[in-house]
Amino acid sequence: MAKRYRVLVGGEWVGDGWPGIEVVNPYDDSVIGIVPEATAAEVDRAIEAALKGAAVMASLPAYKRSDILNRAADFILRDKEEVAEIIACEAGKSWKFALSEAERSSETLRFAALEAKASHGELVPMDASPVSAGRFGFYLRTPIGVIGAITPFNFPLNLVVHKVAPALAAGNALVLKPATKTPLASIKLAEILMEAGLPAGALNLVIGSGVTVGNRLVEDERLAMITFTGSPPVGREIKARCGLKRVTLELGSNSPTIIEEDGDVDAAVGRCVVGSFANSGQVCISVQRIFVHRNRYAEFVDKFVAATRQLKVGDPLDKGCDIGPMISRKELARSLEWLEEAKNMGAVVAAGGEAVGNCLQPTILTGVTREMKVMCSEVFAPIVSILPYDTFDEALDMADDSVYGLQAGVYTSDINKAFKAVKRLDVGGVIINDVPTFRVDHMPYGGNKESGLGREGVRYAMEEMTNIKMVCINL
Ligand code: NAD
Repeated sequence: MAKRYRVLVGGEWVGDGWPGIEVVNPYDDSVIGIVPEATAAEVDRAIEAALKGAAVMASLPAYKRSDILNRAADFILRDKEEVAEIIACEAGKSWKFALSEAERSSETLRFAALEAKASHGELVPMDASPVSAGRFGFYLRTPIGVIGAITPFNFPLNLVVHKVAPALAAGNALVLKPATKTPLASIKLAEILMEAGLPAGALNLVIGSGVTVGNRLVEDERLAMITFTGSPPVGREIKARCGLKRVTLELGSNSPTIIEEDGDVDAAVGRCVVGSFANSGQVCISVQRIFVHRNRYAEFVDKFVAATRQLKVGDPLDKGCDIGPMISRKELARSLEWLEEAKNMGAVVAAGGEAVGNCLQPTILTGVTREMKVMCSEVFAPIVSILPYDTFDEALDMADDSVYGLQAGVYTSDINKAFKAVKRLDVGGVIINDVPTFRVDHMPYGGNKESGLGREGVRYAMEEMTNIKMVCINL
């Protein structure tokens, strides 16, 4: 019998007798847990509890908020193997990447503990204008209140920590709705935060579909902000429905990597293998389009195909596994359809291309064109496309030829080309001599164009999650 879990509302673990949602291991389709599904009334209770929690958090001194976050960081490291197993089983992420997600979540909490103490307002030079000279001015950063956090399946712990940690560090309360496919990591995080001494009501966890639970949070006027990570269509819908509340959207991409003639091809091969295929390509900054200078194209493709063939596909709990399953059979079928479309339009499969159980072999395509879905839409699968180019300008144009703009990678040993790319590319982050998949949680991170709105990274998320209160003193 699968374990039945509870959720956290107002500091109480509740959910006995509620309808249940089965959590399924995407590798073998086994049921690994049953979580309580919230009704509208329970979402309402969670919001009420969060309003009380917000009042408590707003008066909790920064050093106490920091202590709680530091203790939670310690407890995640203490339990990292258990956390990694939860991630591997519910998301199908291979053990080694699941373990590094657990460790990274601890580090993210640690950054939040630091920022809780460092966040401050600043003096405003009122004597800069004759109208204000003679006054004294400064601003404070105050907590925004109750934040609704809605998260996707692909990093079931760290994407949740990206929202929960800065929100708490800034003195807010949350109602968290994780993806229904991967709620167990959020339950573990809630247990850890309560053990770390988080006040009742500061974090409330409810589980249910986007329509029943997600929409209620988005439309409720008592929430001050929605922080969402997920797909572009859902992000659009949230923005349209959320009224006047603040909203940050971390959405998708079809991230490019450029490998210039003077770039380090061997380094690029190693990093592109990880960046394209880790978590079966189900990463918002996965490498999806690779543009290689024609003089290095054959060398890159040969080495990349050889390295990709070394990857071990299979059971995520196998410690040697590199690539686990897709999140669902539906997503696997969708990826195979896109692959079929590309082949029918002339793409050539240089590696992979077949499903093995619920996994898709890491797949490399050449002979692609910009019209194919694998190029112009977010593929969110272990499928990467490679194209040759002749000039750096052409590569930059192709990289920017996208409705998305999250991050881009550029391999070059020429500082002038690096800065040209920085200036030209319409993205939230340019990563020189690495893949766009590079991210650490103390850097600002987020997208331009259809990749989103606002920035994460602990300090930058805290800016989004606070209000500025200006104080003017007429002396
Ligand atoms: P999704 O958009 O289907 O779901 C994300 C969350 O939104 C889930 O909790 C879901 O239940 C909820 N939701 C669905 N419909 C809703 C609605 N109408 N109102 C409110 N909430 C709703 O995304 P997914 O399939 O879980 O995740 C994959 C997507 O997430 C990809 O597009 C990926 O690029 C994106 N992503 C982006 C980042 C980033 O930082 N930019 C990080 C990870 C994933």
